[in-house]
Amino acid sequence: MIPAPFDYHTPTTLEEAVSLLAQDTDGAKILAGGHSLIPAMKLRLAQPQALIDIGRIKSLSYIREEGGKILIGATTTHYQIESSDLLKSICPLLPECAASIGDVQVRNKGTIGGSLAHSDPAGDWPAAAIALGAELVAVGSKGERVLKADEFFVNLLTTALEPGEILREIRIAKPQGRFGQAYQKVPHPASGFAVVGIAVNLILAADGTCDSASLGVTGVGSKAYRAEAVQAALIATRLDDESIAKAAAHVCDGVDPTSDLFASGEYRCHLAQVHTKRAIKAAAARVR
Ligand SMILES: Cc1cc2nc3c(=O)[nH]c(=O)nc-3n(C[C@H](O)[C@H](O)[C@H](O)COP(=O)(O)OP(=O)(O)OC[C@H]3O[C@@H](n4cnc5c(N)ncnc54)[C@H](O)[C@@H]3O)c2cc1C
Repeated sequence: MIPAPFDYHTPTTLEEAVSLLAQDTDGAKILAGGHSLIPAMKLRLAQPQALIDIGRIKSLSYIREEGGKILIGATTTHYQIESSDLLKSICPLLPECAASIGDVQVRNKGTIGGSLAHSDPAGDWPAAAIALGAELVAVGSKGERVLKADEFFVNLLTTALEPGEILREIRIAKPQGRFGQAYQKVPHPASGFAVVGIAVNLILAADGTCDSASLGVTGVGSKAYRAEAVQAALIATRLDDESIAKAAAHVCDGVDPTSDLFASGEYRCHLAQVHTKRAIKAAAARVR
């Protein structure tokens, strides 16, 4: 399939990209790794008049620790996150989630910013961003704003980014205390996308009970969400099998699970419960 004709811009600075986008907020689209946008253009589901390729803006690709926060540039690839020794040591959920995405080619080109901005209901990063309480920094011609991951995913392929805004950075508070993290996923056998994906970040109190639990869920509904009822049910428990099973039973509370050719809503919800249990157990076993 061949995309409809489009203009192609290659800005080398973020300011230039913002200015190009401001000139044509309706017809232009940002291009990052192209692993969601280009397939959509080839199917003519997307027909932008212009692409603004941010892949050459070197200042948008980085992973660093600064002032108690982990900072990740929007065009950092899944592979860069998967292979980051810094992240493996201070926030292992991020490399674990990255390693579960698609195949080597996808991870080599696809970017964390592109994945978050795309808000695919089966994308992996939204679950991790919610579980880690990420802040997403957007920049447009009116300046910069910081959006919380919990508010960012509005619906299927829809985020809280305004027309003309570019996601430039992902900020995550460096996990502290006795924490444990895990990402559990049922990959679709054809694409690798999440049929369900559960990201967990636990913090234990000194006596071994659960002090804080943060869970992001993807694949189940039309957008990624926080499993609030599961979190609430885990607090102050010893994270034994019974309390984990009771909590995981609430993972689909308030969500209308998606039914498709691969999985009915009922089956998806069952998978979500099973993998929520596994993710919590894995996170608890990894507490440092
Ligand atoms: C075969 C295959 C398998 C895949 N498997 C998985 C999987 O298992 N799990 C998974 O999560 N994903 C999967 N993906 C998707 C992949 O992770 C994509 O890389 C990702 O969803 C989009 O990132 P990108 O950098 O390619 O963005 P692009 O395709 O370039 O852009 C996607 C959308 O986001 C917008 N955008 C991009 N960057 C920004 C930005 N910084 N600011 C504002 N808007 C922006 C674009 O305008 C576009 O609308 C798969 C893709 C393929 C082709």
